[in-house]
Amino acid sequence: MEKQLDYAVAQIVKLCAIPSPSGFTKEVEAHLLEEFRALGFKPTQTNKGSVLVDLGGEGNALVLAAHVDTLGAMVRSISANGRLALTKIGGYPENYIEAENCTVHTRTGKQYSGTILLKNPAAHVNPEVNNTKRTLEKMELVIDEKVSTKEAVKALEISAGDFVSFAPRTVVTKSGFIKSRHLDDKASSGILLALAKWIKEEKLPLTRKVYLLFTTYEEVGHGGTSGYPADVKEMISVDMGAVGDDLETDEYKVSICAKASKGPYDYDVTTRLIELAKKLALNYAVDIYPAYGSDADGALLAGHDFKHGLIGPGVAASHGYERTHLDGLENTLRLVKEYITTKK
Ligand SMILES: [Zn+2]
Repeated sequence: MEKQLDYAVAQIVKLCAIPSPSGFTKEVEAHLLEEFRALGFKPTQTNKGSVLVDLGGEGNALVLAAHVDTLGAMVRSISANGRLALTKIGGYPENYIEAENCTVHTRTGKQYSGTILLKNPAAHVNPEVNNTKRTLEKMELVIDEKVSTKEAVKALEISAGDFVSFAPRTVVTKSGFIKSRHLDDKASSGILLALAKWIKEEKLPLTRKVYLLFTTYEEVGHGGTSGYPADVKEMISVDMGAVGDDLETDEYKVSICAKASKGPYDYDVTTRLIELAKKLALNYAVDIYPAYGSDADGALLAGHDFKHGLIGPGVAASHGYERTHLDGLENTLRLVKEYITTKK
């Protein structure tokens, strides 16, 4: 297990380091293709960029889906003073990106570093800093170039429509915590990579057909709407477990979601996940997520006739500076492995 977890963490660190706001995921897609080929699989891609991997097995096909797109922003306009106004990609409170280092990716292939700040942010100058509600209208991206006019910024080939990625600030502590902006959903993407490696190396016998799907538009809602092989009957989103008031999930557990914003998950899938977690004596929680939509919800809303479920490692402070723990990764990996290697 240690071997699988080490690989999962190494992959999570690599994935978090690749900028991939929804709509800007080519590099992370290429990384997945390369990694799965190195593991001995034959990954394919859908037209919109999802990466599909056939893990083998026969009958009653299941898709395990994670997403590799993240929150981010896009340049909305260039101000007369050379600062950049932003529009969000995905949903998050603005105070979670204040003072964050970021990168502007121009359509011509250039990259510029910068920082997202409140306008007039100096505490020695602006007595209203503490009283100002953080909204994008009150904030701006200051790029690390000697520019103070719109024309000078345009000369750098920066334009409206350029993607902005946030610094991941990934940290792995000796005590087993993993912190990063993008654990949603790169933590579970790392878990699914580790699952594939485990299957290949130990020749784990699959009791059904299993596909992995890595989607690229989850944070904007349509990641899971398409890209499924015709034989798929069931889908489990392996995405972050929500942590917060009145939920039992924490960073050490695998979270089994019984209901999220779009309603309950499939009864049989959810119940079997709970039974297997009990059987393995995993550290797990069953929770209701009050403000959460998964790729599995997206698939059903798009009209796919799947049984569906949602599990994942507990990720605290989601859509901010997120944190999980090796224990959460281990409990999740053990549960998905059991799900595809034991008979009903
Ligand atoms: Zn997610």
